[in-house]
Amino acid sequence: MLQAFYPWIQEHLLAVFAVGITLVLVYQYIIEKESGVKLSKRYRNSIFEAQSKIFLNATQYLISGNKDLAIREFLNAVDINRETIDTYFALGGLFRSNGEIEKAISIHRSLIARENISESTRLRALKELANDFDKGGFIDKAIETYKDVLKINRDQYEVIQSLCRIFEDIEDWDQAYNYRVMLSKVGYENQAETISHILVQKSKSSFEKADFAKCQEDLDDAFRFAPSVSAKILRLKLSLQKGEMEQAEIQLMELLKEHPMYATFIFESLKGDFRGAEPDKDLFQKRVSALKDFFLEINDDELLSSPSVMLSKVRLLKEKSRSEEAYNALEAWMKQNKNPSEAMRIEHVKLLIELNKKDEVLVEAKSLLENLHQTLTKHYCRNCGFNSDDIFWRCPQCHEWETIQFRWKV
Ligand SMILES: [Zn+2]
Repeated sequence: MLQAFYPWIQEHLLAVFAVGITLVLVYQYIIEKESGVKLSKRYRNSIFEAQSKIFLNATQYLISGNKDLAIREFLNAVDINRETIDTYFALGGLFRSNGEIEKAISIHRSLIARENISESTRLRALKELANDFDKGGFIDKAIETYKDVLKINRDQYEVIQSLCRIFEDIEDWDQAYNYRVMLSKVGYENQAETISHILVQKSKSSFEKADFAKCQEDLDDAFRFAPSVSAKILRLKLSLQKGEMEQAEIQLMELLKEHPMYATFIFESLKGDFRGAEPDKDLFQKRVSALKDFFLEINDDELLSSPSVMLSKVRLLKEKSRSEEAYNALEAWMKQNKNPSEAMRIEHVKLLIELNKKDEVLVEAKSLLENLHQTLTKHYCRNCGFNSDDIFWRCPQCHEWETIQFRWKV
């Protein structure tokens, strides 16, 4: 029964608040009338008159649709004390979660402007205001206000965390780095892995701009914090760019041995995605091709038992028009691994079609379609389930780092 009223109350939040204040005023009036020891009758009446007048104004604003002025009048209506302060914060929070950002901003701003509140209350209101801007998508104002909070008190974990999220969202890696370091000082969580990822992102943008010296510098910093997978992949790219082939081969082997599940990532990441002249890019591509040849020569049973490594091998063989070899390798692998993933089976069917093995295609495609999983994106986030074909070291949905998983693991 009561639940039926919730939507109505939400709709008429301001009206409910107004009625609430009226009741409080009337109650106060009656109480004071009975125990009017301290206040003279005249003084009491004048307060009530003033409050009633403000309330009347507020109601008029409400009727005329000027809700901002109405809120301001309500805030003036009652003296702020410890109890009512919490009511204002609650109301501001309600407006914000209701998506009525401007009203929330209006409430928090007028709280900040009050003279008779404590500094801790002012700080709290400032934080709420920053949250309003953040939720409303006013990024610049949110950043500015969060920074204002930190100017008053630097020991604010959630505020720093919000700044980290914003700067990572807008890919301002310098600032993202600064605030992540600040976060590691304030909190107990080790941020080294994440800082490494951020420095790799920074380093990557230098790579794209063909500023390889700066790229190397930031990458060294990244390794100083943590040798993350993305750092190792970028180091491999940089070795290829410099033409250090022996180094590149050692680094590739190290990567595959430590993170066989990331094999397909590694090869997908080896693109000459930097600004530069065509001959430079061609040279880079030739080196990538040479590294792929090196990989295809590897005959390490343990390494090749990993689905990701085998999938990479099959794809690279196909890329080099060695489909028959790809077919043989995959057939052998499928015999050893009785429950191959969908990704492997799809690759298998593609290969059968390419090699025109009609009878086998028919059998394979039929059994594959019978068990096909609904979602066929290559990757997903293990934290929130976000789906994507792109490689994401930071999940675009839940903002966690290195939560990416491969579809064939489920
Ligand atoms: Zn996620």
